[in-house]
Amino acid sequence: MPDGGHGFGQGFPALVLNADFRPLSYFPLSIWAWQDAVKAVFLDRVSVLSEYECEVHSPRVTMRLPSVIALKEFIPAARRPAFTRFNVFLRDSFECQYCGHEKPAQELTFDHVIPRSRGGRTTWENVVAACGPCNLRKGSKLPREIHMHPRQVPRQPTSWELQENGRHFPPNHLHESWRDYLYWDSELEN
Ligand SMILES: [Zn+2]
Repeated sequence: MPDGGHGFGQGFPALVLNADFRPLSYFPLSIWAWQDAVKAVFLDRVSVLSEYECEVHSPRVTMRLPSVIALKEFIPAARRPAFTRFNVFLRDSFECQYCGHEKPAQELTFDHVIPRSRGGRTTWENVVAACGPCNLRKGSKLPREIHMHPRQVPRQPTSWELQENGRHFPPNHLHESWRDYLYWDSELEN
């Protein structure tokens, strides 16, 4: 059990990097519970790059909990990203594809460009992020009927494109030791 933790199990998550030292994924950010991180350290599957102050004790070993770990073996990103609600938002950068406003996920909806009632399917090519008012306005009309066209022609993104988009949306609560691994590029650019 960790010393001085606020919550067992919940606390002290480790940021997980791929063998190229980029997060295994940005969205959701790749984070493991400390128990999984410690197990991976003992199995020699990861290197520890940063640690918390807090320690765990077993009968034989005392170790500080890892806060950032990197896989020793590179895991290639899946080539075709899953068609999920979240990935659609990510592809569209959390922007309503009609008015162009950026919204938090809970204020976004999905719009079928060709409405389902008109034979439109639920696919990468026919679903876009839309804010509530735009979705309501468009209703069951075709884009040309109401002159509402998506800003970008919807299509299946690559995993790389999703990763790149995800980099612009870091989570709010970061352990400070994670920052180096998350913001390297943007800090250099600024
Ligand atoms: Zn809108």
